[in-house]
Amino acid sequence: NLFGDTFDLDGEEAEVAVFADVILPVPIPKMFTYRIPRSLEKAIGIGYRVIVQFGRKKVLTGIIGKVHQKPPQAYEAKPILEILDEQPVVNPLQIKFWSWMAEYYCCHIGEVMNAALPSGLKLNSESKIQLNPEFDQQTSSFPIDEREQVILDALTQKDELAYEDCGKLLGLKSAHRIIKSLVLKEAILVYEQVREKYSPKVENFIRLKEPYASSKAELEKLFNTISKKPKQEEVLLKYLQEIPVFQNSTKNENGLNKKVFSEAGCSTSSLKTLVKNEVLEEFKVIKSRFEQIPSKDLEIELAPFQKEGLEKIKNQFESKQTVLLHGITGSGKTEIYIELIKEVLESGSQVLLLLPEIALTTQIVARLQKVFGSKMGIFHSKYSDNERVEVWQGVLSGRFSFVVGVRSSIFLPFDSLGLVIIDEEHEPSFKQFDPAPRFQARDAAIMLAWLHQAKTLLGTATPSFESYYNAKNQKYGYVPLNKRFGEAQLPEFVMADILADKKKNLLKLDFTRILREKIQEALNQQEQVLIFQNRRGYAPFTSCDECGWIPECEQCDVSLTYHQYSKEMRCHYCGFKDKVPQSCVACGSNKISTIGMGTERIEESLSLLFPEARVGRMDLDTTRSKYAYQKILEDFGAGNLDILVGTQMITKGLDFDKVTVVGIVDADRILHFPDFRSGERAFQQITQVAGRAGRRNRRGSVIIQSRRPDHFVFDQVFKGDYANFYLTEMSERQRFFYPPFVKNIKVTIKHKESQIAQKAANHLANLIKDIQVKKIVLGPEKSLIGKIKNQYLFDLLIKLDKTGNVPALFKLELRRCLEELNFQKDFKSVRIVVDVDPY
Ligand code: ADP
Ligand code: ZN
Ligand code: ZN
Repeated sequence: NLFGDTFDLDGEEAEVAVFADVILPVPIPKMFTYRIPRSLEKAIGIGYRVIVQFGRKKVLTGIIGKVHQKPPQAYEAKPILEILDEQPVVNPLQIKFWSWMAEYYCCHIGEVMNAALPSGLKLNSESKIQLNPEFDQQTSSFPIDEREQVILDALTQKDELAYEDCGKLLGLKSAHRIIKSLVLKEAILVYEQVREKYSPKVENFIRLKEPYASSKAELEKLFNTISKKPKQEEVLLKYLQEIPVFQNSTKNENGLNKKVFSEAGCSTSSLKTLVKNEVLEEFKVIKSRFEQIPSKDLEIELAPFQKEGLEKIKNQFESKQTVLLHGITGSGKTEIYIELIKEVLESGSQVLLLLPEIALTTQIVARLQKVFGSKMGIFHSKYSDNERVEVWQGVLSGRFSFVVGVRSSIFLPFDSLGLVIIDEEHEPSFKQFDPAPRFQARDAAIMLAWLHQAKTLLGTATPSFESYYNAKNQKYGYVPLNKRFGEAQLPEFVMADILADKKKNLLKLDFTRILREKIQEALNQQEQVLIFQNRRGYAPFTSCDECGWIPECEQCDVSLTYHQYSKEMRCHYCGFKDKVPQSCVACGSNKISTIGMGTERIEESLSLLFPEARVGRMDLDTTRSKYAYQKILEDFGAGNLDILVGTQMITKGLDFDKVTVVGIVDADRILHFPDFRSGERAFQQITQVAGRAGRRNRRGSVIIQSRRPDHFVFDQVFKGDYANFYLTEMSERQRFFYPPFVKNIKVTIKHKESQIAQKAANHLANLIKDIQVKKIVLGPEKSLIGKIKNQYLFDLLIKLDKTGNVPALFKLELRRCLEELNFQKDFKSVRIVVDVDPY
């Protein structure tokens, strides 16, 4: 009973009151203080889940973030009603980490909690109602009507009712209304109950019962009695064949997986009979969802230049928390990670290796698994909830001392990290866009490591400017690796001029002559080709040839992308789908053409240009299912495909022997992205995708198609002159106040009415301008995409001076401004999104 005992505690007088700050899933940026009733004191502390009353009408589940002796100033603390756990589910370091994240990324700690816990451990999944113990029908000023009485009566029979139960009594529709009315009359409380969604994976096993299991004579007797039942005999024989009972022990507790019998063709009904007759018994075994891969370390010896790199990293860790390993593609960074990980694990600490999403299915994971076997947990974004909980528990129990995972693996319950490695640290996919917390997993992981007093290694061939800047300023250590392992050479680069070919009629289906020739050459030699185009679908635009009409999304300010495979028009922002227009909506003409190239179209062009080639495609649309990435990459690795077309998914960490040609169909698309990072991104993407070519004996070629082949980025990529490129770009950034010279915060205001959104944005801009810190405020301005899902968007960009505690001060003041804005009647329904370090 939730309320009986605990409410009685009110009268009890504690010598020293003890309070707990509880993290609750409510949109208020703080923890809430509750009193710990004395009877609860022992079994409570940071990280326990508790049930508390929130406001007058709600009961919520939260996690204790802090225990202290300071009563709240503004209100009288209510008691904690119940504790749900025997053991804390999160540790104090995690709470510290959550608090930091909420503060740094300007969000609510409840939102961080939501992101951090796998939903199998999550709270508030089921609403139930209870009588309000403070309610007295006699003295209440609200009369209770007949139908409401039905619920109250039911609640005197049972302590709690689920919404569905009420529905059964009154019909679902009215139940909802009646519950609401009872809540308003303060007759009942709604509470959200934890529903543990995790269910372990259970398998059925069979074992021989006593006395047969320990007595040969009894077993022989048994065989005599069932000799006329050959099917039962067969079952028993199968069992004895697999588990020779009398060989090494008198008992066999392991038993045999029930599957084995059906697989061997034994009769299931005979098996049942034997169980019924108490010859065999069935029992359940909790199984891991993850295969135990036997640990089989393939000894690889580091090359001298790799050894030197490893030593340098270790040296720099003596004085620096974070080291940047700047190693060109193919230099063998993975092998260096492996050596470091081994050492840290041997010292008894934990290790976390962060990878961008797609890299998780590639060779690097297979390689690590060979070395670390069952010690290693994998945390994949496509895992089911049960799988996530199992990894979580594996970290808690110590089964996994090493985890390889995507960005959300920073939330796992580590308690003694010694090393965090972030591979491909420049990857923008480490940034979470929606929902809050909008964190950068690389940056957050560095903070996490700091909380653990652990080291961080950032690995990449193309550092993010932020990290390189920190290395140059001695904040991070820096270790370059400028050689490829073995004989592999860096590829040759070839610029292909799209406009020149067009003029000479050499452009065929968007492919320049040189790219076509190189592909053909590779195909002739039985080599493989990667083709990169960062746009999925068939064509980004369709348009009427007569009047220029372009089909657009009904809910967003964007054109619809034509998807040929699914034969529909799709919005890539809200998922809206429409039929493919047969004629122009504006003028009726049926001359509709497609403009631009998506991966589907390139796949089609390649099939037309090289009919003998087997072409595959890897983009968001072909990789929605859990093992789709893996399947495509396996096919490609096994040589079942000659050409693989893909979006940025194919730029990451792929290591295939036979790829000798890499084509970039439209490099201008990468260059012209309207963002201050576009140059940096172009350099990174081209270098990374080029790094897939010629990783073994034969030198590879990278063909880059562009309308501006003389753009200076290309030249710098060819020369591999990262340092020079960095200097050029950085002087621009410094001049125009871009990160890393300032700290950017983007505030987006959303509302379904454009006018209200704009007014709110103006108002907020004025509030922000009044904040007394050194800053530049840009906007408000209509967002790049002015409408998404019927919400109008306006942006404010704040560029903060980074020195001292300016950013922290500003964020504090910003919270106040946001509250002030939402407090105004006109702007109550305005949604505000704060993005710290936006991309
Ligand atoms: P990077 O991540 O730096 O691009 P990888 O770690 O993928 O490079 O290494 C490139 C290739 O060279 C891989 O196939 C890897 O197995 C191989 N390799 C690297 N170092 C060694 C080594 N010391 N001995 C044997 N093979 C190595
Ligand atoms: Zn038209
Ligand atoms: Zn849309």
